[in-house]
Amino acid sequence: MSRTPEQIQQAIKSIREQIDAFQQRYDSAAPDVTLLAVSKTKPVELIRAAMAAGQRDFGENYLDEALTKIETIGREACTWHFIGQIQSNKTAAIAANFDWVHGIDRDKIATRLAAQRPDSLPPLNCCIQLNIDDEDTKAGVQPEQLPDLCAHIAELPQLALRGVMCIPAPRTELDEQRALFREVTRALYDIKASYPHLDTLSMGMSGDLEAAVAEGSTLVRIGTALFGARPAKPA
Ligand SMILES: *Cc1c(COP(=O)(O)O)cnc(C)c1O
Repeated sequence: MSRTPEQIQQAIKSIREQIDAFQQRYDSAAPDVTLLAVSKTKPVELIRAAMAAGQRDFGENYLDEALTKIETIGREACTWHFIGQIQSNKTAAIAANFDWVHGIDRDKIATRLAAQRPDSLPPLNCCIQLNIDDEDTKAGVQPEQLPDLCAHIAELPQLALRGVMCIPAPRTELDEQRALFREVTRALYDIKASYPHLDTLSMGMSGDLEAAVAEGSTLVRIGTALFGARPAKPA
């Protein structure tokens, strides 16, 4: 069952309250945590319902679906984040329509996004995806590859490097979730020695929100807890 606009507004309120409570509970929490509403597969009416509750940041994974929504709602009405895997044949549309990309994991993608970012737009905010789970199949760079990719992005004025993001494999234990996120926090901390302006730790989803806030996340990407369950992934 799809959620009603009233349920979405209630869920926004409730997630903001949870984030606040976790910030109070953990000394290591960041003072400001942005709620990114992950609206992939969800209709425009539900995005509008979230907007009516004051929500401004939205995350999308599937480019064609996202472009239709951005055109309907307006590029400037919200802050649009591309959080899906970035294929190199999709970079032009991503560069022209989004404010943030979270999944940069190689030089080539960064180079293309920079070259294709329209001059009329401010630099594209970027996070580098870290692969802390060390699984061959997953996207993202190893922490030891972070300095080289940061150095590459730092040379591209059309990109604004903001920090790192991660998508760990699902775990149910808070301690295990925290241990993984702590490695991401550490990786950002290390790289900040060279790039002190980095300010973004994009980590935490519906199933590990508490662990992420506890470990200093500055941006949590919440889909299911806000908009309800999604249909199975489109092929
Ligand atoms: C779908 C998605 C989310 C949201 O996940 P939920 O578990 O529904 O909160 C967050 N981040 C990324 C990269 C996603 O693809």
